[in-house]
Amino acid sequence: MCCVRRSWSAACDDRRLTSSCALSAVRALVHRRLFFHPHCALRWLLCVLALAGASVALASSGDPAAPANRTLDVTHASAGPLTLTPWFDVLEDPSGALSFEQIRSPDIAARFTPSGRSGTALNFGITPSAWWLRLRLANPGDGALDRLLEVAYARLSHLDFYAPQSDGTWQQLHTGTTQPFDSRGYAHRNFVFGIALPAHAEPTIYLRIASTTAFVVPTRLWEPAAFHAFERSDYAAQAWYFGMVAAMVLFNLLLFVRLKDWLYLQYVGFALSVAFAMAAQNGLVKEVFRLESPLWSDLCTSFGYCFSIASGTLFMRRMVEVPRLLPRLDPWLKGFISFYFLSPFLFLVPGQTLIKAMAVGYILAIAVVLSVAAYSAWLRQRSAYFFLAAFTLVCLGAAIYALHAIGLMPTNVLTANAIQLGSTLEMILLALALADRFIQMRRERAAMQAQLLATQKTLIDTLRHNEQRLEEHVAERTVALEAANRRLEALSRTDGLTGIANRRRFDEVLASEWARSQRSGEPLALAMIDIDWFKAYNDHYGHLAGDDCLRSVAGVLANCAARSTDLVARYGGEEFAIISPHTTAAQMQALVLALQQSLAALALPHPTTPSCCVTLCAGVAAQIAQPGEAPEALVAAADQALYQAKVAGRNGVVLA
Ligand code: GH3
Ligand code: MG
Ligand code: MG
Repeated sequence: MCCVRRSWSAACDDRRLTSSCALSAVRALVHRRLFFHPHCALRWLLCVLALAGASVALASSGDPAAPANRTLDVTHASAGPLTLTPWFDVLEDPSGALSFEQIRSPDIAARFTPSGRSGTALNFGITPSAWWLRLRLANPGDGALDRLLEVAYARLSHLDFYAPQSDGTWQQLHTGTTQPFDSRGYAHRNFVFGIALPAHAEPTIYLRIASTTAFVVPTRLWEPAAFHAFERSDYAAQAWYFGMVAAMVLFNLLLFVRLKDWLYLQYVGFALSVAFAMAAQNGLVKEVFRLESPLWSDLCTSFGYCFSIASGTLFMRRMVEVPRLLPRLDPWLKGFISFYFLSPFLFLVPGQTLIKAMAVGYILAIAVVLSVAAYSAWLRQRSAYFFLAAFTLVCLGAAIYALHAIGLMPTNVLTANAIQLGSTLEMILLALALADRFIQMRRERAAMQAQLLATQKTLIDTLRHNEQRLEEHVAERTVALEAANRRLEALSRTDGLTGIANRRRFDEVLASEWARSQRSGEPLALAMIDIDWFKAYNDHYGHLAGDDCLRSVAGVLANCAARSTDLVARYGGEEFAIISPHTTAAQMQALVLALQQSLAALALPHPTTPSCCVTLCAGVAAQIAQPGEAPEALVAAADQALYQAKVAGRNGVVLA
């Protein structure tokens, strides 16, 4: 910290401070790791002040002291151009009415005063006055010399050059942005005048300057060869800058066509506006497009700056998403943008009042754009970081250029092209920001697609699962339904009381066995069975006991006719039937006798009968079914035999 203070005070006290002091201050900060201290902001500020002070001191110390002898010896050895600022005598002409002859008259010539400036340029600000500059040169050598006088500020509205010629007349050139480009003695973006210096000559050169907008006059004297070398590198630097802008514009134009994102077109508009302003500021618009309209060529730079502010703010508004982020501010920003798009019309108003107001307007615009960008960055808007950094670089470039122009910073390649350098870095940063935005959007889209895919997959899985469950459910239900159907089917062919086949089943089996008998030629036997005196049983024991008795008899029948091909059915009431395929009448009779014995063995009590037990009668019929005969014939025969058994006295079997 002490080291910083020492550096700072050294910068203030010693005007001969060199850049090493500033460097040592920075080194001290780095060495002591002060950047990372909690109070580093204050130290940063001190460091910047130290550097600024060093720069100012450096700028001043680099220039020669104000000359006591007001004649410049052009033969002085010099590696580069000679800065003419300290050598000028100046005279303000507030009315702008003084002629060249008048200013050379002794009384007015005596009013010229030394410029008193030691920087690289004379600074006149915005003024309606015309300024006369007088420069005394001397060639003490024996040989004639040529020199080039460069006024390195392309925006001067009026610039008149007067130099004495060997024949005693004066060479007069009337040029400036309001004059045709061909009015210049030397075709260059800045104003360059050739000066012939015969041996032992001491010519006095005059310049008359007036300008609509703010102006500075950085004037240098060159040896022709040195100037030509400088000129080549200078134009190459311009070509680099505008080539880069052209590439950026073309690339972003293609991106706009392909992606249909208006932000790219707004960037193109901004880049073109800035490039135009730069080209106008540097005199290239005048040189390349040969604009002869005085008003247009005088003010095209101001137009360029207004459009740059408007298109830059428009670009920022979309890039940092002001409508979403700062909805209340957005209408104001729109008004601000519209104003700067229309503001070039203000320059059409004659006089310099509005031009002065617009100069303040530029500063305000910079403050507004910086504030919005900084606030958006504070709200953690990602693109705002890029924009803020990019815009700060341009502002820094402009500040360095302004400091250089008014002589507070030395003139070198960096300071003379600081705005273009800042603008180059800005465009690269903004292009990076656009690429970053593109990547961000692609990431967001990919994330959204992934989310959509995941949702879709979940949906499909759910649907599949539900479908599977539905299929299983349907299968279960089908199985259950089939079982129920089978049960229903069986029930519809089963007697509810006894559990054996019912009459419907009897009819079906009789029909099918009858048909089988017809096909096979095998005999089919049928026994019709009836319980004896069952009404009396009911009467004696009641119907419920009668039902039990019916169940018992059915059980006996089912046990005796145990062959799988036999069918025991309840024919109706207390009557039963047995169908036996491949069975003769005798075999069926034997079966009936067997079941009568089983029933007798069961000895179901029936007190109102002679045997005191439940007995039954049976009529047996058997035949091979003949074609054309119906099974009813067999039933009728068996029924007839049963009737006979009843008549015969009960508990008997009769063969049909
Ligand atoms: P027979 O010896 O001549 O056959 O005399 P029966 O009394 O047995 O014959 P009848 O035709 O006069 O009577 C049959 C009785 O069977 C009448 C009826 O009450 C009884 N019956 C018919 N179906 C059922 C039934 O499901 N349950 C009960 N408990 N009785 C029934
Ligand atoms: Mg009966
Ligand atoms: Mg009976």
